[in-house]
Amino acid sequence: MRIVMLEPLGVPESTVLELAKPLTALGHEFVFCDKKLSEAEKLERAKNADVFVVANSPLSEDVILAAPDLKMISVGFTGVDHIPALCNEKGILVCNAQGYCTDAVAELTFGLILAVYRNILPCHSRTKESGVKDGLVGNELRGKALGIVGTGAIGNRVAEIGKAFGCKLIGYSRTEREESKQIGIAYRSLDDLMKQADIVTLHTPLTPETKLLINEERIGMMKQNAILVNVARGGVVDSKALAEALNSGKIAGAGIDVFENEPPVEGDHPLLHATNTVLTPHVAFATEESMVRRCGMVIDNITAWLDGKPINVKMGMK
Ligand code: NAD
Repeated sequence: MRIVMLEPLGVPESTVLELAKPLTALGHEFVFCDKKLSEAEKLERAKNADVFVVANSPLSEDVILAAPDLKMISVGFTGVDHIPALCNEKGILVCNAQGYCTDAVAELTFGLILAVYRNILPCHSRTKESGVKDGLVGNELRGKALGIVGTGAIGNRVAEIGKAFGCKLIGYSRTEREESKQIGIAYRSLDDLMKQADIVTLHTPLTPETKLLINEERIGMMKQNAILVNVARGGVVDSKALAEALNSGKIAGAGIDVFENEPPVEGDHPLLHATNTVLTPHVAFATEESMVRRCGMVIDNITAWLDGKPINVKMGMK
């Protein structure tokens, strides 16, 4: 088989090739990629490929059609909405790297919470200006109601970490899981969660049902001293309404990793100018560990498929 990477996976060539050894040892060819490719370069690379390895860049139908032997796509990402539905029609198996960044995202969630709660960015600036702590008194997590919206893999990990901090765990999710209850999450309606939480943290996918789930009305339900963290998807929140609530002091702060569009974010985006808001450029998933983990999962998915026992299948199963 000719296994062709169409974009980098964020790990060095030596690591990728080491992880790919179970495949190359069996005589399969593995074509590494170390830079973002143009569409023309992808079309050229696609020829004679049996398997594509991709991350999160949109993959065009043309590139798929340029690979008449294509049988499988191993996606180093959780979402597969950037992979054309054509794969279903053509029976091209699409497998993902579900869960590769659960710890990374959950940990940054607390990075953002602590940054807001302890005024870390203003403290940094103040210290560099040879200043002192006046007006920079923070808050503690112990005893606070941590409101988790979406109690899946990441939401549950956030719950575990929140429990260690001594938070009271409340949750809202489409599916109420026993596993989440075992961690200590008490389920609420979304409106009750918005009213009761000191910290609202979002961990749902972006779907037609979750688009603008956190709208002006729901932001209006939050306590004045509450903060909102969004490491899910920008489209889940009404950014304009959130910025207005922050700027008018209706809520106390926010930590935001995701926007309606992928960063770079336009300079006039309301959250870029919102009060007491800590921003990161969609980086929650990106740690050295998660990058290596997703690379390993990409290889494992190919190995399992070659063994006739595909795992993490998302599309193309006839
Ligand atoms: P998951 O599938 O394990 O969990 C998603 C949870 O959302 C599930 O519990 C599901 O019941 C719930 N849900 C789905 N639709 C809902 C709805 N309409 N209302 C309420 N709850 C709903 O996924 P995960 O691995 O925990 O990831 C969650 C999300 O985090 C991803 O979909 C993605 O949007 C986001 N994410 C962000 C980054 C980042 O770098 N910022 C990285 C990975 C994932």
